[in-house]
Amino acid sequence: MVEYVAAVDQGTTGTRCILFDSQGHSISQAYAEHQQILPRPGWVEHNPIEIWHRTQEVMSTALDSSGLSAKNIRAIGIANQRETTVVWDRSTGKPYYNAIVWQCMRTQNICSKLIADGLEDFIRERTGLVIATYFSGTKLKWLLDNVPDLREAAERGDALFGTVDSWLVWNMTGGTDGGLHVTDITNASRTMLMNLKTCAWDQDMLDLLDIPAQMLPQIVPNSSNTAFGTAVFPGSQTIIPIGSAIGDQHGALFGQTCFAPGEAKNTYGTGSFLLMNTGDKPVPSEHGLLSTVGYALEGQPVKYALEGSIAITGAAIQWLRDNLGLIQSAAESEAVASSVPDTGGVYFVPAFSGLYAPYWDMYARGTIVGMTRYTNRAHIVRATLEAICYQTREVLQAMENDSHIALKRLQVDGGAVVNNFLMQLQSDILGVSVVRPRVGETTALGAAYMAGLATGVWSGLDDLRTNWQVDREFSPEWDAARREAQFRDWRRAVGRAMRWVTPEE
Ligand code: ADP
Repeated sequence: MVEYVAAVDQGTTGTRCILFDSQGHSISQAYAEHQQILPRPGWVEHNPIEIWHRTQEVMSTALDSSGLSAKNIRAIGIANQRETTVVWDRSTGKPYYNAIVWQCMRTQNICSKLIADGLEDFIRERTGLVIATYFSGTKLKWLLDNVPDLREAAERGDALFGTVDSWLVWNMTGGTDGGLHVTDITNASRTMLMNLKTCAWDQDMLDLLDIPAQMLPQIVPNSSNTAFGTAVFPGSQTIIPIGSAIGDQHGALFGQTCFAPGEAKNTYGTGSFLLMNTGDKPVPSEHGLLSTVGYALEGQPVKYALEGSIAITGAAIQWLRDNLGLIQSAAESEAVASSVPDTGGVYFVPAFSGLYAPYWDMYARGTIVGMTRYTNRAHIVRATLEAICYQTREVLQAMENDSHIALKRLQVDGGAVVNNFLMQLQSDILGVSVVRPRVGETTALGAAYMAGLATGVWSGLDDLRTNWQVDREFSPEWDAARREAQFRDWRRAVGRAMRWVTPEE
C-alpha cells in the first residue's frame, strides 16, 4: 500500500500542510497566512486560536486536493516557528494573551537587566544562548509579570506554557479533553529554560526568571511513535498518529539530510537561519553564534548544532511590498533588482528587530545609507536582496571561525530561494557555490521524515539521503576585489545601524 505523511509547517508568516509520498515528493499542499498583530513599534503578536484554525484548514484542504483518504496517511509531522510563546488555560483551552512572537522586542528591559547582572556567561554555559529578546524565557516572564492573575493560575497548575509545537499537539490530541502537554527537544532548546547538556528544564534558569515549573511541558525527542499521541485528521473521522514535532530550522537541517558533523544549510524565510550539524556534543561559540540542539531521534544520542540566526531577510522584502509599496509582490523583487547593475552605493541594514547573529544588538534599528538623488526604487530593492546575502556572509564566517570547517558550498531552502537573482547574488557575495535542492520545502520535509521514521515509512537515514536531489547550483561570478570592497562597505553600514536607540529607563 502506498503510504503518505502529512507535514504541517506552522511558520511566522503562514501555515502550510504538505502531503509527501515515500520518495519525499510533495503530492499536494495548502497554505494560509495569519494576521501579524503589531500593537506598538517593535512588538509582534499572533492569535493562537487563529493559528490553530489555519492549521486545521490547511490540513483538511491538502487532504481534499490530494484525492486521498485520511486512511492513506501513516503519520502527521509538525514543524513550527520557534520561540513564539503561548500560555493557555488547561480547562477552557483559552489563551491568556496573544502569542508573543520571536521577533517581538518587548522584553528589552528584562534582557538589559540580566546583562547588567553579569549573567551572560552563566546563561550561555547553561543554555547555549545569548541574552536576547528572541527567546521564550523572557517572553514568558513578561506574561507572568503583566497579565492579571496569570502567575496565580500558573502556580495552581491551571495555566500551561508552550511554544507553538506544544500548543498544536495539545489541541490536536484532544485539548481540554486529555490533550498532551509536551514539547520537542529542539523547541525546548530555544526557550532559555532548558539545560543544553542534560536536555532537562534547568531549575536555576527557572528561578532566575521566576517561572513556576508546573506550567512547563514535558520534553520529548523529535521523532517518536508514542510521545505525541494521536489526532483525528481534520476534515475526516480517521485517527492518525502524530510522529514528530520539530522547530522549523531543525526540520530544514534534517530535511536537507545534514546528518553528518560539518554539514550545513541556510533557510531564507521571514528571517534566515544557518545551521551546522556539530555531532554528539554542543560546541560553544566564540563568534556570536548559538549552540543548540540539532535534532534527536528516539533512543539515540542528541545531535547538536551551531546556529547563526538573522531576524529579518524575507521580511524586508515583505516590508518593501507592504509598508513602502515599492513592489507588488515578493517575486517582483527579482526583476526590479536585476534591472540595475549595482545599488549605486546604497546599503540597507534591515535591523527591524535589532541585530541578531553575530552582533546581538537589540538597540540597532533599520538603516539605509549611501543615497543620492541618483538613487531609485531599483537600487533600494537590490540593496534589500544584497542585505540578505551580506548578513548570511557574516554568519557563515562566524560559523567557519567557530567550527574550523571551511564550507565549500551552501545548501539553501525556504520561501525566497525561488528567486534566482538572489541565489546568484548570494554565491557572488559569499564566493562559494549555492546549491538549491529539488524540494524547497525542506522544513516540512524534515518534519515528514521524522514522523515517517517513527512509524516505519522509512527505515533509516540512508533511505532519506537517496531522496535528496539538486535542482540548481549557482557559482560565484564576482571577482574578489568587488566582493571584498562591497563587504567592507556593508560592515560600515552596520556600524551606523548599531546602538541606534538607547535603553528605556
Ligand atoms: P516563513 O516560514 O518564515 O513563514 P517562508 O519560507 O514561507 O517563510 O518564506 C516567506 C518569505 O520569503 C517572505 O518573507 C517573502 O517575502 C519571501 N519571498 C517569497 N518569495 C520571494 C521571492 N521571489 N524573492 C524574495 N523573497 C521572497
